[in-house]
Amino acid sequence: MLRLKELLNHFFSIFFPFRCHVCKNNCEFGIVLCKDCLEKLKESIHKPLEVKDTTCDFPLYTMSSYNDFTSDIVKIIKYKPSKKLAEKLAEVCVEQADLKTFINSDDVLIPVPMHEKRFEERGFNQASVLAETYAKKLCCNFSPAIIRSRYTKPQASCTESERMTNLDKAFVLSPDIIESAFKGKRLIVIDDVATTGTTLQKSVESLKNLKAKEIIALVVAHSYKKIQNNNKNNKNQQ
Ligand SMILES: [Zn+2]
Repeated sequence: MLRLKELLNHFFSIFFPFRCHVCKNNCEFGIVLCKDCLEKLKESIHKPLEVKDTTCDFPLYTMSSYNDFTSDIVKIIKYKPSKKLAEKLAEVCVEQADLKTFINSDDVLIPVPMHEKRFEERGFNQASVLAETYAKKLCCNFSPAIIRSRYTKPQASCTESERMTNLDKAFVLSPDIIESAFKGKRLIVIDDVATTGTTLQKSVESLKNLKAKEIIALVVAHSYKKIQNNNKNNKNQQ
């Protein structure tokens, strides 16, 4: 049986060459990360650590710190785009960050939502893929409780002052949820990356009437300090 699987993989590799999504080396059919890149990713993921330098008014945890390799993977997921790579990233996070000791079966995982227009372009919401995969692996609750009420410019293409207002009233509670199901629970808002933290802040604000026990956020990577340092460097250069 194993032999047959190997032969089939060989056959597919010849006719449908499959490449590592990061370094472009040849891979077996269906494998999105080569062994070297998978190792590099594993090394860059650690247990959730609280990010101290954000403006968020809730605890924000990250599973990698200012790591260029993880940030590259997050970018490839979005711009390639690759749902399979997002699933692989989530699986590595569950193992390497030992998420079973951080997320309890009673917690509710809530992804940062994506507007329908962007969803149609990309075909998936990477925050949802992460949250759903964590929930599936850890047998906890998943709920797309927040929705986008309007289309907004990507935060990355906003000026610093635009960023503050770009997301005003952009996130609301889904009309499909049963609010009492969230009462007394710990809600964990999931996203791939935190930059200034504004997107997470606005998402968390939309959950504040749910009478949760606690609301926190968990991301794969963050670059908040980097941005602050770059700004400082730019100012020094002026
Ligand atoms: Zn590779």
